[in-house]
Amino acid sequence: MQGLMMDFQLTVTSVMEHGRKLHGNTEVVSSTSDHDRHRTTFGEVFGRAGKLAHLFAKEGIKRGDRIATLAWNDFRHMELYFGISCYGAVCHTINPRLHPDQIDFIVNDAEDQLLFIDAMFVDLVKPLRERFKTVKKIIVMTSDRKVIEGLGNDWAIYEDVIADLDTDYDWPALDEGEACSLCYTSGTTGNPKGVLYSHRSTVLHSLGANQPDAIGIRREDVVLPVVPMFHVNAWGLPYVAAMTGCKMVFPGAKVGVPSELYKLLDEEEVTFTAGVPTVWQLLRDHMDKNNLKLPKLHTMVVGGSAMPPHLYRYYEEEHGLVVNHAWGMTEMSPIGTANQTLPPAARNLSKEEQMELKLKQGMPVYGVEMKIVDDNGHELPWDGEASGSLMVRGPWIIERYMNKDETALTHGWFDTGDVASMDKFGIMKITDRKKDVIKSGGEWISSIDVENAVMLHPEIPVAAVIGMPHPKWGERPLLVIERSDKRELSLQEIHDWLDGKVASWWKPNEVVYVDKIPLTATGKMHKLTLRDQLEDFSFDD
Ligand code: ADP
Repeated sequence: MQGLMMDFQLTVTSVMEHGRKLHGNTEVVSSTSDHDRHRTTFGEVFGRAGKLAHLFAKEGIKRGDRIATLAWNDFRHMELYFGISCYGAVCHTINPRLHPDQIDFIVNDAEDQLLFIDAMFVDLVKPLRERFKTVKKIIVMTSDRKVIEGLGNDWAIYEDVIADLDTDYDWPALDEGEACSLCYTSGTTGNPKGVLYSHRSTVLHSLGANQPDAIGIRREDVVLPVVPMFHVNAWGLPYVAAMTGCKMVFPGAKVGVPSELYKLLDEEEVTFTAGVPTVWQLLRDHMDKNNLKLPKLHTMVVGGSAMPPHLYRYYEEEHGLVVNHAWGMTEMSPIGTANQTLPPAARNLSKEEQMELKLKQGMPVYGVEMKIVDDNGHELPWDGEASGSLMVRGPWIIERYMNKDETALTHGWFDTGDVASMDKFGIMKITDRKKDVIKSGGEWISSIDVENAVMLHPEIPVAAVIGMPHPKWGERPLLVIERSDKRELSLQEIHDWLDGKVASWWKPNEVVYVDKIPLTATGKMHKLTLRDQLEDFSFDD
């Protein structure tokens, strides 16, 4: 027997309409290239999304066309998120930190029709302009006309092109299966691949990610997304904002300057923030040096790469924050797990045992199914010991990449490329990315576990462990430490420090100091590049 409920389409338009009607007065604060601290409201943002829709109609944009953005987090980017998707086009966010050749590749692969860019990316785009074959116009997100002086008439200024257009727009009734946004993977190996989100997957992801024990944003929150809107829709936070009505604080390019980021967090009384560990490390350095606190902040979501325990403890113990260690990926919209609260069964454990659980990546949120399998695809037990390939499925997980014919699934499951264990509570722990796993004498060493143990040392703020060729063992761990104002440690001191923290055969064979550990376009340690940079290294024995 079929249920008899309405066939209501889950669209980003319904999210926007909700936000406009119920949270129209909610404040949106942004730092942009033309405003130090711009203030507007959801009502105005969605009105200007209507102006954009009129612009797209004028430009001949058709349903399903791709419109790209290359921009920091700010109110105009939010207008584009909703204006493009609700028009029926696809909002293609591009990561400006990608190599220019990759930007060229993805603009052409996506066949972008219009390109919206931040003023500070004009110099990045100018030399690429001729290579963007399908782009008809480049619109710079500013009111300052000077930035396009001398450029061709296919360049325009955002505030000019929407100035005379109407805020009311007769939004089309979209099918929830239509594409609403597009994000390419970082392409750390090979060319980036397009992940095409649907209206339905986006709405379900926003609902799923914002369950109380997952991300759990509330109406009274003031949310500062450090996670960029140019990568995986800023973890869905702009949609969650329109659903809940929380105040948004968009940091623009200030996100890279810890003192400025601190000022915004403090002065706007931010209660909730989210980003990758590297940003929290930089903020910590700034706060430590200047003896600063953030009395209003209560939650910090950390994901993208493993949260080092010393950093977790710093924010939890010294600042009283709920540090919510989450995991996900571009192909998953991105949220897969969150670790805000432990299950009741774990509440009787000692503080240290609880800390061990909280440092893991957390429990799958409703909507994401998970299993771990061995090399033959056989499911492994959830005993906290066995680790294998992490497979996922659910309504906001990829089925196939854009412009590819073959499915991305194996028997209906997506292989995340991560190696993980699941414990009896259902809490998942990433031990490594498959390509970063160290295989020593046929056994696996978790580079993340060794890094975490090393970085507990007060004189080692940032370190990576990579597998390097070894004549006897195949691979052995090499510890790479980023130079800081701290003293350099010997290998023996590090071995002594690791005693009892990791298995003795996991201890690195050598240690080297480097000026900078390279980061990927999404702010993770780029171990592939690090291995390339150290290709002349060889172990003594
Ligand atoms: P890319 O690195 O290509 O941009 P994503 O941004 O989609 O790809 O990153 C996804 C990957 O990041 C995951 O597969 C996992 O390896 C890693 N990751 C994400 N969150 C965490 C976390 N909390 N702990 C450890 N690794 C994480």
